Amino acid sequence: MIAPFIYSATKVRVVFGAESFASLGIEAELLGLERVLVISTPGQSLLAHQVASKLGMRCVGTCQHARMHVPIDAVKQALEQVHHLCIDGLVAIGGGSSIGLAKAVALKTELPIIAIPTTYSGSEMTPIYGITEHGVKKTGKASHVQPQVVIYDPDLTINLPRDVSITSGINAIAHAVEGLYAKDTNPVVNLMAEEGIKALAIGLPAVYSDPGDIEARTQCLYGAWLCGIVLGSVGMALHHKLCHTLGGSFNLPHAETHTAILPHVIAYNRQAAPDSMQRIARALGVDDPACGIYDLAKNNGAKVSLQSIGMKEEDLDTALQLALQNPYWNPQEVEFGPLESLLRDAYNGDCP
Ligand code: NAD
Repeated sequence: MIAPFIYSATKVRVVFGAESFASLGIEAELLGLERVLVISTPGQSLLAHQVASKLGMRCVGTCQHARMHVPIDAVKQALEQVHHLCIDGLVAIGGGSSIGLAKAVALKTELPIIAIPTTYSGSEMTPIYGITEHGVKKTGKASHVQPQVVIYDPDLTINLPRDVSITSGINAIAHAVEGLYAKDTNPVVNLMAEEGIKALAIGLPAVYSDPGDIEARTQCLYGAWLCGIVLGSVGMALHHKLCHTLGGSFNLPHAETHTAILPHVIAYNRQAAPDSMQRIARALGVDDPACGIYDLAKNNGAKVSLQSIGMKEEDLDTALQLALQNPYWNPQEVEFGPLESLLRDAYNGDCP
């Protein structure tokens, strides 16, 4: 039976495939951009220079200080450049950190963004922004921070380290998993979520075996795009709440935290969302979705315990209390005892 639903599509121009980076100049021209600021993390300065030279005269500056979780000082610095250089558009190259800084700048300035993602975070397909001030990350939604153009070129992801590729891919899968059982899900989101998980389940092991495999990189980027649309389209649940809490309060790395938590949240929701579980298992080609995700991560070299990514055992109680405050909607009721077990299992990295 098809349940009643509401579906609205976002208007983003997506240019996907090998050599799509070559179209950057045309895309900037179509948007009428003449004074572009290129945003990247310090580690991606080479890519930022490639972008600048592709833009030619349209590029008037680079801002290479994007950092994880968008600290307010980085936003202020970028805004100064925007005003000083009379910028009329932003090109963000890199992962969620670069795109996140561009969004924070767009929040204040309404400048258009062209995003060129080189990880699988999915941020480029959402109107969600986050800014961290005094150790607290505040997130929100604003349609004008959604990039207007997204260029997905798998060639630019070849140098993404193997370990980052796997955890970033599991981060993408987490969006699809929670999109499947979202309260406001719909049939189109379900199709994209299942297809996204499937593409990543095929692509990630192949990238792990050979990070230079362009076909595998293309699969992963395709999956990340679909999972990103899901994240931008429907509400997330317990998994994203937990990862937001752990990342924000204990400074745990973003994609790695998603990787350690996801199998345990799937197990937590296994009974309450049977149709979604069937879709996840089918996409992974396994019987049990929780073990399937755990194996996908572990067999491809990812750390699967919170302990191994820097969580302290004495912080588990605080994490539990924080996660219980204003919980997101979740298919399985969020309760003290089961959530405590979930966190303990994720801390130990046991197979769910
Ligand atoms: P990231 O952007 O920090 O990138 C991870 C690492 O990969 C960095 O060291 C980066 O320099 C490196 N890297 C990126 N591209 C590379 C390449 N081509 N070659 C070599 N190295 C490369 O991390 P992320 O996981 O992509 O994003 C995480 C951030 O994004 C978090 O702050 C998270 O909250 C945010 N996020 C936001 C949304 C949203 O919708 N707003 C969605 C997902 C994530």
